[in-house]
Amino acid sequence: MDQYTGQVKAIVGGRGEKKSSLSLNRATDSARQPGSCFKILAAYAPALNEGKITLATTIDDEEYEYKNGQSVNNWDKKYIGPTRVRYGIEHSMNVLAVKTLTDYVGETESYDYLLDFGFTTLTEDDKYSQAKALGGITNGVYNIEMTAAYAAIANGGTYMKPILYTQVLDHEGNVLLDNTTPETHEVLKDSTAYLLTSAMEDVVNGAGGTGGSARLSNMPVAAKTGTSQESRDLWISAFTPYYTASVWGGGYDEHKTMDRLSQNWHQKLWRNIMERIQDTKGLEYKDFEIPSSVEEKTVCTKTGLLATSSCPAITEYFSKDNVPTKSCSGHYFAPSEYYEKDDTESSDETTPATGTDSSGATSSPDSSSGGTTTEPAAGGDSGGTTGTTTGDTDTSGSTTGSDTESGSTTQ
Ligand SMILES: [Zn+2]
Repeated sequence: MDQYTGQVKAIVGGRGEKKSSLSLNRATDSARQPGSCFKILAAYAPALNEGKITLATTIDDEEYEYKNGQSVNNWDKKYIGPTRVRYGIEHSMNVLAVKTLTDYVGETESYDYLLDFGFTTLTEDDKYSQAKALGGITNGVYNIEMTAAYAAIANGGTYMKPILYTQVLDHEGNVLLDNTTPETHEVLKDSTAYLLTSAMEDVVNGAGGTGGSARLSNMPVAAKTGTSQESRDLWISAFTPYYTASVWGGGYDEHKTMDRLSQNWHQKLWRNIMERIQDTKGLEYKDFEIPSSVEEKTVCTKTGLLATSSCPAITEYFSKDNVPTKSCSGHYFAPSEYYEKDDTESSDETTPATGTDSSGATSSPDSSSGGTTTEPAAGGDSGGTTGTTTGDTDTSGSTTGSDTESGSTTQ
């Protein structure tokens, strides 16, 4: 999709030889669980847009339960304590997303944003659920709607209803139908859109990012990955400064699991498609534009407040209307994590380790709390992804693909 015009440039509804007309187009007719691609749309976008968090806000990654008592797990059941939002996005951490929705957004407010992002398959149950922060919804979403939602972020926060044709002419060339101008509305401020874009660049480029296989050699990419329970669905929704695309890797129309498939072949598919488009069209490198509503500040990674001399500091982007104004009181006294040690003699530990560790997430060597899509070992990739370009835009009565699967999803 061209995020600036709303025009859908290509759709692949299935793979292999096209054997029938009006066959199932999975991009428009199969509702599938969105997995962690929903974290951005249901949790972080609303929270940032409402000024409730910044990318430097720290949220405690800890054991956590939904209001119904069901536990929210990171996939490895490890928790790393206070964690910056940017880091939580990069690593697709579950607890952070659910807490963001619950504590900073609200279930129904999140739902309203999802409607604004153009989703048409949500239910009344979804309206009140916390699980939608992780993409656990009743009916799933259509790929084309996921793509349009991410395209709204790529387009500075303005949603464009996807356009599949521009004009219909009669045999004399008279315009019968004109569809050139898309329906549009603003979902996010341009500052919010840029902050999300910047964080999602880390999903691709960051050391522990879950979308590294989608990296392009000659163009910036912002991405979010998603995987539903037992890998029934693999997603990547991602954009460059030119185009937005989502790849759903299934899986099966009947929602069987995909046990032994490597989990990044869908990302490679995304990359290969985008690279071919860029080569074919000769697209020049350009960066994502930083709007004038965004500024950089140096903040403390422990508190998210303006950094002072003893703080472990990073430089982060902020919306100008939501910049921290308080300064961190410093770390001459023990940072909170040391309070947990009932060890009075460790006085050397309570002196500040200034400047070390700017991640806000100190240990956790694999640091992938929530991201099983971190670059699995090679192998098993893209076997059978050839011949995917034949699926054109038939739509049809979908016989499968929209049955419900409300199971909780992970990253
Ligand atoms: Zn500090």
